[in-house]
Amino acid sequence: VLRVKNRVLGPGTTSGFSSSSTSASQRLAGKVAVITGGASGIGKATAFEFVRNGAKVIIADVQDDLGRAVAAELGGPDAACYTRCDVADEAQVAAAVDLAVERHGKLDVMFNNAGIGGDVSATPLASLDLAGFDRVMAVNARGVLAGVKHAARVMVPRRCGSIVCTASTAGVMGATGPTAYGVSKAAVVAVVRAAAAELGRSGVRVNAVSPHAVPTPLAMDTVARWFPGRGPEEVRRIVEGMNEMVGPVLEAEDIARAVVYLASDDAKYVNGHNLLVDGGYAVSKTPNM
Ligand code: NAD
Repeated sequence: VLRVKNRVLGPGTTSGFSSSSTSASQRLAGKVAVITGGASGIGKATAFEFVRNGAKVIIADVQDDLGRAVAAELGGPDAACYTRCDVADEAQVAAAVDLAVERHGKLDVMFNNAGIGGDVSATPLASLDLAGFDRVMAVNARGVLAGVKHAARVMVPRRCGSIVCTASTAGVMGATGPTAYGVSKAAVVAVVRAAAAELGRSGVRVNAVSPHAVPTPLAMDTVARWFPGRGPEEVRRIVEGMNEMVGPVLEAEDIARAVVYLASDDAKYVNGHNLLVDGGYAVSKTPNM
């Protein structure tokens, strides 16, 4: 059951908060990043924050037109380029990493962010389509593992680097209905913990970021299938209302700024962490004792 409440918006809606951060601090000056799923939503917002903070980015996605447009908007070849990369295909992930090294001589940040929602009505479990489960796992879990593997291949010899992987509150809390999605995101958290333990000794940090509901195409498509016949604005309001917490709407840029932190040297001793950006939604669901 989707819970949509009439939220009382906090002071941030009229003062305090803003949808864009204050001036860029160049926290990623000189760094080179690959962003999977960078053509849209959270990945796109992160690409903009990375470039604002001085990084060069490679957008790796399967939406060629959108990916190229994002790269052009970011300032063209000096700041960003696009490469087609289906993260379910390990060879394409390896090639995206190699492209960073060929173009810029190194890879500092790997943002394993590409993801799909999968079947949102995978209940009852007795009739679950396991082929659909496999596809979600291939992109969301195996794709992230491939990104960690190939980033480690080039980062460990340099003994530095930051890998950030997009999980979800669904990976912490589970997801009723899109079962595969919740399982895949729990797997992301497990991959991050295992990789952080191994790679930390080689100077490479691995962390997860877990958004709650951000009105990106992925979330909007998912909710639109839950509520057939609702228009885009209504669907957006439903997604935004899923947050329930804190007041201001959760935006892709909020996730992007958390990723900048994890990617940057400001987080130099943060390793194996799953940073929830959910306004406290997950803890609010903890039963009262
Ligand atoms: P989005 O649809 O805007 O972006 C996802 C991007 O991933 C798209 O550009 C898409 O083309 C790309 N992609 C999909 N399959 C791919 C593949 N096989 N190889 C390469 N790229 C692929 O959605 P988003 O919300 O920005 O999603 C980004 C990540 O955030 C996903 O991992 C998603 O599960 C996660 N997430 C989103 C929310 C939310 O509410 N939006 C919440 C928690 C986690």
